[in-house]
Amino acid sequence: MSISPPRPANLAGPAPDYPWPDGKRAALFVAFDVDAESVWLGADAANEHRLVTRSYGGYEARVGVPKLLDLLDRHGVKATFFVTGWTVDAHPDLAREILSRGHEIGHHGYLHLRPDGAPREVLADELDRAFDAMERHLDYRPTGYRAPWGEATVELLEMLGERGITYTSSMRDDIRPYRHVLPSGPGTIEIPVNYAFDDWTYGLNHRSGPRALFGREHVLSIWTEEFDQTRDWGGVTSMVMHPQVTGRPMRINILDQFLTHVRRFDDVWIARGADIAGHFAGCEAQGAVRG
Ligand SMILES: [Zn+2]
Repeated sequence: MSISPPRPANLAGPAPDYPWPDGKRAALFVAFDVDAESVWLGADAANEHRLVTRSYGGYEARVGVPKLLDLLDRHGVKATFFVTGWTVDAHPDLAREILSRGHEIGHHGYLHLRPDGAPREVLADELDRAFDAMERHLDYRPTGYRAPWGEATVELLEMLGERGITYTSSMRDDIRPYRHVLPSGPGTIEIPVNYAFDDWTYGLNHRSGPRALFGREHVLSIWTEEFDQTRDWGGVTSMVMHPQVTGRPMRINILDQFLTHVRRFDDVWIARGADIAGHFAGCEAQGAVRG
């Protein structure tokens, strides 16, 4: 079955002007936010005693991430997992497995606290505790960051740069990477996300955020059409998936079919965030991209 409706040829725009590597036309950034139980504990400390609520997150370590790693292997796709420091402390073997399979781990806060409105010392603690957890368990220091709850502030971006974070992936304002300009000077490279790829919207129902679940035809039609047009425009399709959602039995098939669709195109670069940011930095040094 064809998921995308037929599109007239004139919908394909002019040749993209972003210099993707190896003559590629566009990119796909396969990215997961691994919150595990921390998203529930960070939202409400009382959830520590709500075992069923916590178990939504526990699914990630037991089932969701392992199943997704197998799926990515079958497609030969390398991804970025933005993992909270709490998750690394609670599930260190899971984090090691992600790295050992060739994927990247990015920073996603410690207890998944919202950055906006947080006092500076809380922001610093969220950042430094997660770096510490990754260094202790993984001997690893991430270079990428995605903001918990999808929010960021100038203060946060400056603190990330001070700590060696080279790229961020939270904004919704473009389809191509760019560099933040901060009061203190050049900031991190941004790989903006497409919110239509946030699976929480379609597939997680909890009494704190009751919503309908959406099935394969609904989600896949949005994902493929967003991807197809972004490819035409020469941009990067950045995904925001959560293993406690897309790692569920039916939903993993949606990602499987989406990756099958993308891999039909030989002009799409499927890359990890660090690779996309590294390519941008190289182009920037040659004056080939805007700042
Ligand atoms: Zn998250």
